[in-house]
Amino acid sequence: MDNRQLLERSLKAVWHPCTQMKSHETLPLVPISRGEGVWLYDFEGNRYLDAISSWWVNLFGHGNPRINAALREQLERLEHVMLAGFTHEPVVELSEKLSALTANTLGHCFYASDGASATEIALKMSHHYWRNLGRTAKCRYLSLAGSYHGETVGALAVTDVALFRDAYEPLLRPGRTVASPDARLAEAGESPAAFAARCARALEDCLSEHHAETAAFIIEPLVQCAAGMAMHDAEYLRLARAICDRYEVHLIADEIAVGFGRTGSFFAHEQAGIRPDFLCLSKGISGGYLPLSVVMTTDRVYEAFYAEDVTRGFLHSHSYTGNPLAASAALATLAIFDEDGVIGANRGLAARLSERTSALAKHPRVRHFRNRGMIWAFEVESGDPQFSRKVFTEALTRQLLLRPIGHTIYFMPPYVINDAEIDHLVGQTLAVLDAVP
Ligand SMILES: *Cc1c(COP(=O)(O)O)cnc(C)c1O
Repeated sequence: MDNRQLLERSLKAVWHPCTQMKSHETLPLVPISRGEGVWLYDFEGNRYLDAISSWWVNLFGHGNPRINAALREQLERLEHVMLAGFTHEPVVELSEKLSALTANTLGHCFYASDGASATEIALKMSHHYWRNLGRTAKCRYLSLAGSYHGETVGALAVTDVALFRDAYEPLLRPGRTVASPDARLAEAGESPAAFAARCARALEDCLSEHHAETAAFIIEPLVQCAAGMAMHDAEYLRLARAICDRYEVHLIADEIAVGFGRTGSFFAHEQAGIRPDFLCLSKGISGGYLPLSVVMTTDRVYEAFYAEDVTRGFLHSHSYTGNPLAASAALATLAIFDEDGVIGANRGLAARLSERTSALAKHPRVRHFRNRGMIWAFEVESGDPQFSRKVFTEALTRQLLLRPIGHTIYFMPPYVINDAEIDHLVGQTLAVLDAVP
């Protein structure tokens, strides 16, 4: 197979996600034959530094030898067994380890295969909890302006991105949104904490009026990634937790993108010193290897379902729930966190990356340069409506994979990026800015 053959066959047979297929008349698909570390290779020896971790899933590089080895070993034992009525070692071990990472406050793990399904599970579980308590009116959800929680019909109802939503609006259950604590929206001179408190008052106003019909408030802690890496102060999460408690509304932390060390702590909500009622995880959970997601919850929620009556139980299933291969990849990923002290090591790595990106932060066309843990983002002044597409194309010619969101360029690199690769990332991004006015 060569590059051209793969492209032609793909455009005939594959309907690609998040894509107007006609755009590929002029914008070439990127054929990939293999991956190693931060690099993706095509069939002709071209390579691209994966600065966005392949849609935010990869943590320890492509073709990671330790994850590969764990998968090979599991493959020889058991590829899959249904999880209804059956169980297996990888899923038990993974559940225990994840629970331990929440100090056992979220001790019950419910699995699915992708992020949107985790959102669906958290929404259903929250409502069913209230229903089991006789509070059947609690069947509405609250989310932030600019929220993204996935694109299935239930998840899309709590997603506030017009492009993804508009065509499907008639299918969606109505919900409410409150102002985002996105720090870029603070008044001049207003501290991040003061702005967070102002946004939390809007949340409180909304819940004081609507708590009786609201099951849960769902939030992407610290960084609303799909909104364009909108970052907020941890104070907002602290206040949101207290407000949700006051009004008897569940707090769902969607850490599908920000979990697994992405924001600097293992889970983003840790930085606020709080725990959610539901924690949704996916993306990095398997190191970027296999589709896997989980919703973790408390004893209190779990016990509300525990009864003789089948209909009080949580009624939800996916064919591949708790797949042993995916769970093994997740266990190998957690082992790397442990063995390599990744959270601590990433502090040094993030400091080096921040130092080297200072040239970007000072660039005359760059606005709102920001960083949280292993995420960097900034807006670029440009009058070009095709800015995002041009940056993507220009970056590819410079061995770099960037996928801006509108005028926001961001870096979310795998945690194995080295100094030479950081220099490539920053140097080539500067060159891209010169090339795309
Ligand atoms: C990616 C993402 C999802 C959806 O996950 P999929 O696996 O793409 O369905 C949900 N929430 C957040 C915050 C995400 O970043």
